[in-house]
Amino acid sequence: MLETLRYIVQDVNAASNFRRALDIIVSRVREAMGTEVCSVYMVDQSGERYLFVATEGLNQSAVGQLSLERGQGLVTLVGTRAEPVNLEDATTHPKFHYLPEIGEEPFHAFLGVPIIHHRKVLGVLVVQQRARRKFDESEEAFLVTLSAQLAGVIAHARATGDLADHTDPIGERADTCFTGVPGSPGIMFGTAVVVHPTAHLESVPDRDAEDIMVELMVFDRAIKSVRQDIQLIGEQLALNLPREEQALFDAYFHMLDDDALAGEIRDCIRDGQWAQGAVRQVILSHVRQFEKMTDSYLRERAADVRELGQRVLAYLQDIRQKKTNFPQNCILVGEEVTAAMMAEIPAENLAGIVSMRGSGSSHVAILARALDIPTVMGVMDLPLFALEGRQLIVDGSGGQIYANPSRVLAAQFQELLAEEQEFSAELEELRNLPSITKDGRRIRLWVNIGLTGDISRSLDLGAEGVGLFRTEVPFMTKDRFPTEEEQRVIYREHMLAFNPRPVTMRTLDIGGDKALSYFPIHEDNPFLGWRGIRVTLDHPEIFMAQVRAMIKASTGLSGALRIMLPMISSLAELEEAQALIDRALTEVREEGIPVLRPEVGVMVEVPAAVYQARLLAKRVDFLSVGSNDLTQYMLAVDRNNPRVASLYQELHPAVLHALREVAKAAHGEHKPVGICGELAGTPAGAVLCMAMGYDVLSMNATNLPKVKWVIRNITLLQSRRMLAQVLKMHQADEIQAFMREQLIKAGLARAVPGQRTSSVN
Ligand code: PEP
Ligand code: MG
Repeated sequence: MLETLRYIVQDVNAASNFRRALDIIVSRVREAMGTEVCSVYMVDQSGERYLFVATEGLNQSAVGQLSLERGQGLVTLVGTRAEPVNLEDATTHPKFHYLPEIGEEPFHAFLGVPIIHHRKVLGVLVVQQRARRKFDESEEAFLVTLSAQLAGVIAHARATGDLADHTDPIGERADTCFTGVPGSPGIMFGTAVVVHPTAHLESVPDRDAEDIMVELMVFDRAIKSVRQDIQLIGEQLALNLPREEQALFDAYFHMLDDDALAGEIRDCIRDGQWAQGAVRQVILSHVRQFEKMTDSYLRERAADVRELGQRVLAYLQDIRQKKTNFPQNCILVGEEVTAAMMAEIPAENLAGIVSMRGSGSSHVAILARALDIPTVMGVMDLPLFALEGRQLIVDGSGGQIYANPSRVLAAQFQELLAEEQEFSAELEELRNLPSITKDGRRIRLWVNIGLTGDISRSLDLGAEGVGLFRTEVPFMTKDRFPTEEEQRVIYREHMLAFNPRPVTMRTLDIGGDKALSYFPIHEDNPFLGWRGIRVTLDHPEIFMAQVRAMIKASTGLSGALRIMLPMISSLAELEEAQALIDRALTEVREEGIPVLRPEVGVMVEVPAAVYQARLLAKRVDFLSVGSNDLTQYMLAVDRNNPRVASLYQELHPAVLHALREVAKAAHGEHKPVGICGELAGTPAGAVLCMAMGYDVLSMNATNLPKVKWVIRNITLLQSRRMLAQVLKMHQADEIQAFMREQLIKAGLARAVPGQRTSSVN
């Protein structure tokens, strides 16, 4: 059964469009279950009708013509209950609805199961038989299992079909919308450029060849290189390998012949596909053929073909890894967009980002916000192959993208864009004005930075200091650890630019989702593993070089250097780190460099640190809450997992109460407290943190003018009243709605996400 299930899912997955996927489902399920009828009904866009979209066994000519209204018939009963309905004789059931055109009179036994994806009923899968009999438990369980597995595939195929097959009666032609989560705010129009990791067959997109002759040439070079490799490996192993196994190498060689795979790939290129796409198409179709074979020896060959395809692909990517012609407004689309992929596209062309994995608190999203690039994350059901070259609208605030936008929709978004631009232009006038509330409370607005380009942007936007310098970013752009001197130069550049403003440098915070190519960490639970201070305390040589570089970089400047320690979860870690910092200071002074003692602070981003905040505050110069990680760890929600993105709630009452405790603890020790997670850069978060007494709000430069505008248009008293109400609330949604309403009432609607004058229906 498991095998059958796997093959059905695989075939549906491989279908070229949605129509085909549906046909495969009904024919394969009918065959697997030995029933006379299998049909699929899909819920339409309005959610009110169930369309008869595919059948094997009922009247084919009724497909696409019939539908049932909610409440009508057994099919909609399955959908409404979101549970299977299994009947010996459907025709006698009070809910049975007779549709003369469909031809189901002779069938009595009925089993319908819902197709549910992310809590939403997408449709109903039905099998029927002439005999009066109830389907047994194992049959029901099989169909439920199959439906659960197919749901994701169907959702995906439907999305793909909507784009790929414009004649699809179910699909919407224009304005196809894909939903993810907001990554970086703003609206952008552009052309999709699909990027994929090196040598990953499945994620190579379809792309028209820019020059067919060049693609053929590149392909020939790749084949030649793979042949040489195989020959070399074959020769090396020849001494130890039995004769039969050596035959495998001959088989590989043959596969690369013109009358085998290579010939097919060439044909595909001649039809206009680029070489990498042609390799994917041909190789994967052969892999599927082999996988279906009953003979286990032949089935194993699927792995060989795949392996060969990977090898060819790796060479192709090596030879022509970089696309050179980029459209003016590129929307970078990928399964898991990384900082390195962002770097592949020239900065002036990169207009938007769409990632199937990750969420608003992933580091790519944080980077995108710093660079002001509208981004949508976690768009799980994206038809990656079909998107290349399509026109897209990225709505980074709403977390949606639209493919093939109609003129009407494009005009609506243009209007929103114009409003946003007008607001940003007004905000520019605040640049040199203080961030002070209407009743005179001054709040320090600092920036989070990492890239060198951030310096001028931050200063232009009126930053009064750096609240978080993510030092891992310069580490990521190298192919080995940077030397102490290399680091000193980079840090000095930043400190000089911001002088006399204070600069908070966080010590290296790798692990979790931040990897260094030259220092790989493989763990099952990376966010609960070797991260942040844990890594650097285990490698004092790295920590010491970094701290010395920071201290040296501050020589002769009046702006304070603040060293900040990430992921502290115990006093012992703090004490060890402080001892190392003391040693580094002594060493620098022994080198004859006159330096001041830096301020040292702790990031509160682990629940343990919340409960020990007062003890920590006693021992340091400042606290700073990393609300991104604190939210993740308090709510046990992976900040990168789009499946649970809706549970990642920075305004969760537990998080807000924790924030307040930290502020009280710091002030109890007369130490300043800041917040440098993304929450500080949102209007609601900034207002609530100000009311709690936070001295510093540190955010990405893009958000700073808007937050300053909010602060200058509200009183401390108003914010405290809001906080008092919020602290009595029990649910994040309630708090979210309340803050939204309060900010609008206070005349701050323009800063509230989604609360614009125009709206997109
Ligand atoms: C945080 O966790 O809130 C934070 C600022 O650090 P990062 O996002 O770099 O993990
Ligand atoms: Mg963090």
